[in-house]
Amino acid sequence: MIIKSQITTELEHILPKKNILSSVEECYVYSQDGTNDITSDTLPDVVVFPETIEEVQAVMKFANSHKIPVVARGAGTNLVGACIPKKGGIVINFTKMDNILEINKTNMTAKVQAGVVVGKLQEAVSKMGLFFPPDPSNLKVSTIGGAVAQSAGGPKTFKYGTTKDYILGLKVVLADGTLLKTGTNTIKNATGYHLEQLFIGSEGTLGIVVEATLKLIPKPETTRVVMAYFDTVENATNSVTNMIDKNICPSTIDFMNKNTLQTVEKFYPCGLLTNKESALIIEVDGFEISMDTQIARLETVLRLSGASEVIISHTKEEQEKLWTARRSSFGATAKLKPDVVTNDMIVPRENISKLVSGINEICQKYGLIISIVGHIGDGNIHPQIALDLNNETEVKAYEQAKKEFYKLTLELGGTLSAEHGIGLEKKDFLKNAVQPEALEYMKKIKKIFDPNNILNPDKIFDMN
Ligand SMILES: Cc1cc2nc3c(=O)[nH]c(=O)nc-3n(C[C@H](O)[C@H](O)[C@H](O)COP(=O)(O)OP(=O)(O)OC[C@H]3O[C@@H](n4cnc5c(N)ncnc54)[C@H](O)[C@@H]3O)c2cc1C
Repeated sequence: MIIKSQITTELEHILPKKNILSSVEECYVYSQDGTNDITSDTLPDVVVFPETIEEVQAVMKFANSHKIPVVARGAGTNLVGACIPKKGGIVINFTKMDNILEINKTNMTAKVQAGVVVGKLQEAVSKMGLFFPPDPSNLKVSTIGGAVAQSAGGPKTFKYGTTKDYILGLKVVLADGTLLKTGTNTIKNATGYHLEQLFIGSEGTLGIVVEATLKLIPKPETTRVVMAYFDTVENATNSVTNMIDKNICPSTIDFMNKNTLQTVEKFYPCGLLTNKESALIIEVDGFEISMDTQIARLETVLRLSGASEVIISHTKEEQEKLWTARRSSFGATAKLKPDVVTNDMIVPRENISKLVSGINEICQKYGLIISIVGHIGDGNIHPQIALDLNNETEVKAYEQAKKEFYKLTLELGGTLSAEHGIGLEKKDFLKNAVQPEALEYMKKIKKIFDPNNILNPDKIFDMN
């Protein structure tokens, strides 16, 4: 077996020394990711920062020949332990492959390296009148490689879909160093299997994405935000169906429950109505000239659906204030206890009220403090739980509660993750969510792409 110092020496023949980290202190930083409740004592042996596709290929060729585990890493912000290098090995960090290679206005496409930050891409295409809708809330740091690998979504999924809907083609370095070019740079493609889609949500277990060709759409001229308060969660949920009935298609329909409203108001006072059971933040977009009509129709539907208060933004500042309330919910919940953990479940929208009330009941049973936010238009919620991760009783209570969250989600016809992925966090539950035959095929696919099981081993499912 090759030892750490030999790995470093070999890698120094592939990359410049300045792009290799191997001290304990440096490697420690890359032994964790954005997941609060999963830690690892195992450090990577070495962290490399390639600048070219050829360097990634050479690293993979070397790692494969010695069966060294390899974990790709973007910003490390995933919430399921997906880039924790449990078996050590090499971490490939993509922060030095962060170039936007091309934005083609006529074709409405962009070519980017894997380390491009999603928010930077959005800004760049926006200057050309174009729009890349996938918008994980941490888009200011998260990367395209991470978004592809986690099948990231975000608030705008209701109208625009998730990352998977915007991938036209990928360049992927396979476990043995082969460069696979899959997909096209055309908007439509019916030319054989869509191999590029296989890598979406694969969490770096099938190949290393080095470049992506993305679909862009025309940028909506303007946006407007409305906040609606309801006295029941059911009324809030039903209002979505009523909006669709009236041909209203908001870009975002986000949800906050009573506890969230109270917690945000406690720590970041912004005039939220804390006696209401729930609030929706609804964003509409389109031509400026259509805004008053859209907002008037939306307000009518919301009031007919039982909204007891409707706040309409008239300026960008007012709009930002409403969004800030929603975005502050995680930070506010974190102030209730030393730690906060978040989760991600999705059910068909018709069952979202049952999911919200069921999760509240489970947390009550286990004495857990919870605030619930989510993308209610999609049926996707994020319970945020304040707890002390050093308190064994609280950790055990959360572990038990999680099992019941997942059971309930599956009973309601939903699935384990909408946008955060499986990683280490949910892999034990995967067998409950996918058909055994489907799981077997996933393992067969993994074997084809990565026969030595070196690519992000132990994530999503175990290979034994
Ligand atoms: C505050 C906060 C808010 C969030 N909000 C959202 C949200 O609204 N919607 C949402 O969907 N997610 C959200 N997330 C989760 C997370 O940000 C996303 O999953 C994000 O897309 C991860 O990007 P990253 O660059 O940090 O990836 P990382 O965490 O670095 O990596 C994630 C996975 O991708 C793999 N990977 C990374 N780069 C590559 C590559 N080049 N090739 C192959 N595999 C690769 C890694 O091995 C790992 O398995 C949020 C996270 C935080 C902390």
